[in-house]
Amino acid sequence: MKILVLNAGSSSIKFQLFQVKSWDVVCIGLIEQIAQEQGHIALKYNGKDIEKVLTIKDHAEGIRILQELLSELGVLKDFDELIGVGHRVVHGGEYFSEPTLINKDVIGKIKEVSSLAPLHNPVNLIGIEIIAKKYKNIKQVAVFDTAFHQSLPKSAYIYALPYKFYEDQQIRRYGFHGTSHHYVAKKAAKYLGIDKKKVNLITLHLGNGASVTAIKSGKSIDTSMGLTPLEGLVMGTRSGDIDPAIILYLSKCLNLNIDEMDDILNKKSGLKGICGLNDMREIEQKVAKKDFYANLALEIFCYRIKKYIGAYTASIGKVDAIVFTGGIGEHSVLVREKVCKDLDESIGAKIDLKENTKNSIFISANDSKIKILVVPTDEELEIAKQTYKIVS
Ligand code: ADP
Repeated sequence: MKILVLNAGSSSIKFQLFQVKSWDVVCIGLIEQIAQEQGHIALKYNGKDIEKVLTIKDHAEGIRILQELLSELGVLKDFDELIGVGHRVVHGGEYFSEPTLINKDVIGKIKEVSSLAPLHNPVNLIGIEIIAKKYKNIKQVAVFDTAFHQSLPKSAYIYALPYKFYEDQQIRRYGFHGTSHHYVAKKAAKYLGIDKKKVNLITLHLGNGASVTAIKSGKSIDTSMGLTPLEGLVMGTRSGDIDPAIILYLSKCLNLNIDEMDDILNKKSGLKGICGLNDMREIEQKVAKKDFYANLALEIFCYRIKKYIGAYTASIGKVDAIVFTGGIGEHSVLVREKVCKDLDESIGAKIDLKENTKNSIFISANDSKIKILVVPTDEELEIAKQTYKIVS
């Protein structure tokens, strides 16, 4: 029994095929450069790397090519052998607070909230609809990035704007990376020996996109990303929190239109905006060579995280643990050290520098009041498991 997980982005589709119950990865790959002159499909199967360069007209064609390739390789004769397909869907609006079996009504609702995630929801839907059309009996499940954060209280999700913008345009904090925050929270609860419904955590998902979530009694009560993933922490190329008046001021001063501002805030800011690089490994190399801008970018990145840890400690009350995950959270010894520096004095979270260099699961000192953990995330596995739970 196998489950396919599809994670469609604006020009790519990540896929993983899982063996149910053992949760072994049968095959993993990526279809890239969709709708460009030269597309690319790469996958790993049976220890072999397979790559093809070909034109992939659109996402629908990408999925057709994937099905043919899996069949050609003998991985899967056809999709109808699957017991389910799990889709990462970025935005569920206020409709979805948990993984959901897809039917016409669900498709309609995902469409309805597409304006909130115009680059993602429509391509997520293409995958869903093409499979639904060709394989009427396959059960499909949507796992929403926003779902875990639907437990936020109104005080955390309503912006102090005229209330009618919430009522008419659904402007509010939705939060993202929910599948990852939820997954590492459950894992951390296990490591801590605390019931997952009672655990209080601050989870830090630090990758190219980055967000922090306050979890109280196993539920998300606040999160740093907002209506879109732009708000909150400093990210690879996104600014995170800024004074909103900067947008007005800059657009007036430099005569920038909305699209140009969008480009600056989402693609030219963050770590990249400060030091020209968005890859933390490269930034660390430059920091080692005492590069001023790389060092500044790193300091700002870590300080913003520390500030959120303080704020969320106040929101949660008694925090059991701080959890690092994502490419940077899982691997950057330096970032973890900087973020945790002096947290012992302020909130009682004391890092063990030696354990930190070993990338251990527990990186806090034995006498630390708040534990500090490193927990690798696995969004695809979580989607596969959630899918199985529903289809079985
Ligand atoms: P995405 O948001 O694209 O899924 P990832 O979670 O894969 O991102 O994280 C990518 C980030 O993780 C990059 O900034 C990369 O430099 C960083 N990273 C990966 N490995 C290391 C490492 N060993 N040390 C520091 N940073 C790392």
